[in-house]
Amino acid sequence: MIAEGLRQIAGAVGEQGVMPVEAAEPLLRDERGLYRGRAAMVVRPGTTRECARVVKICAGAGAGIGVVPQGGNTGYCGGATPFDPDRQILLSLSRMNRIREVDSVNQTMTVEAGAVLSSVHTAAEEHGLMFPLSMGSEGSCQIGGVLSTNAGGIAVLRYGNARDLVLGIEAILPNGEILFGLKGLRKDNTGYDLKSLFLGAEGTLGVITAAVLKLVPQPKSRQTAWLAVPTPAAACGVLRQLQRDSGERVVSAEYISRESLELVLEFVAGTRDPLDRPFPHYLLIEVAGGESRQRLRRTVEAAFDSGLEQGHIADGVLAESGRQRDGLWRLRECIPEAERHSGGSVKHDISVRVSAVPQFIDEAQRCLEAQGPCRLSVFGHLGDGNLHFNLRPPPGTALADFAAGPAGGMTAALHDLAVRMGGSFSAEHGIGVLKRDELERYASPVALSTMRALKTALDPKGIMNPGKVLGE
Ligand SMILES: Cc1cc2nc3c(=O)[nH]c(=O)nc-3n(C[C@H](O)[C@H](O)[C@H](O)COP(=O)(O)OP(=O)(O)OC[C@H]3O[C@@H](n4cnc5c(N)ncnc54)[C@H](O)[C@@H]3O)c2cc1C
Repeated sequence: MIAEGLRQIAGAVGEQGVMPVEAAEPLLRDERGLYRGRAAMVVRPGTTRECARVVKICAGAGAGIGVVPQGGNTGYCGGATPFDPDRQILLSLSRMNRIREVDSVNQTMTVEAGAVLSSVHTAAEEHGLMFPLSMGSEGSCQIGGVLSTNAGGIAVLRYGNARDLVLGIEAILPNGEILFGLKGLRKDNTGYDLKSLFLGAEGTLGVITAAVLKLVPQPKSRQTAWLAVPTPAAACGVLRQLQRDSGERVVSAEYISRESLELVLEFVAGTRDPLDRPFPHYLLIEVAGGESRQRLRRTVEAAFDSGLEQGHIADGVLAESGRQRDGLWRLRECIPEAERHSGGSVKHDISVRVSAVPQFIDEAQRCLEAQGPCRLSVFGHLGDGNLHFNLRPPPGTALADFAAGPAGGMTAALHDLAVRMGGSFSAEHGIGVLKRDELERYASPVALSTMRALKTALDPKGIMNPGKVLGE
């Protein structure tokens, strides 16, 4: 049954649509090097109809063939890795990468799932518009993956998560039917919001093949500052002040600990400390608006003057050019790369209320001290209350030994703390396989049974991304 199904799939997508499994080796390893997968076949359909035919064949093959969708394979939770070499195929969307339409009056873009995020940025800019979701992986991650993980990034504060930036989707249901929903309407109250089911579902309820994305006007001016702050609480104070003074113009507010900056300075070529002396905490803040550069700058400078007076800011620089701005952002965006070059880290992706971030940082450090030695790299989207509270092994200990040993208890302590404070153990990276047990542990029985009911209703054979999010 399986062999016959695979033969039919090969026929449905043609020669171009099948990648020899040996050549697909990089697609079978996850971004973080935590998982090495195996698949019966690696399939790359070129159109929505081909994709639908593949899923239909998988659904019809006896007990079913598992379909593991994959975009840019930059996900942090192993969600895009297939694990069964007999019963699962890897479905790469990378050939389906067309920008189908930009409607500059409606301010929308209709794009296929395999389009790389940075190419979506470029296409929007060509029309004087902007797709505001931006993150360190944007040169590789694809729209289908971004929507399926409900990615966040560095501008959530102003524009929201991926979920807030989608007006419609086209998706393949687990039975191979196509849900056409690319209307691009800002108002449409016609029954259940079906697109929401697929956003953040990590490929477990169907395959997203295209989407209508919301675009926004490009701001006329932008100000970016790298500020040294004495404490995380002071960072929250600066953010609050700037929000009071400039309203919705605050786009990003990123927290960076000295330890994270030092990793970048040591491991990423061409970087330098923007300030003359070290400080324990930094805030990278960006404000953008429709007014002139000078006017926006005056607003920002006034807020910073009051931050200096109140002792919330110890030092700082305002970018004077686009190049300087890129340099400041590089310090933030390269932290994951620097962690990797330093030997790797055990990553965390927690969120609490913005107002509770200082308390979380404080209590987390105390919890960890009780657990044993480790080195910290703490950074993240302060404006969203989302921290990457990453742990590095102590000097002389290999990451694998640390991860298999004391880091387990440390992770549990950090997740318990976040949840105890009313927060989340997974703010933006999702569940995949990595945090499946955590979902079982922290989600309420009602939430879990509702998720399972949805999964069973849509995917009774369990062929869509088996074993991810909810387990089999
Ligand atoms: C340097 C770096 C920085 C990052 N920064 C951020 C950040 O700031 N914010 C953030 O949220 N994440 C961040 N990430 C994580 C990651 O880039 C995002 O989760 C991204 O959205 C994943 O997109 P992808 O195309 O690589 O998806 P993949 O890794 O290929 O897949 C992710 C999940 O989506 C499913 N999927 C993929 N495509 C489809 C589809 N077409 N239909 C249905 N399911 C599908 C997969 O099965 C899998 O479960 C970062 C990663 C890196 C490496």
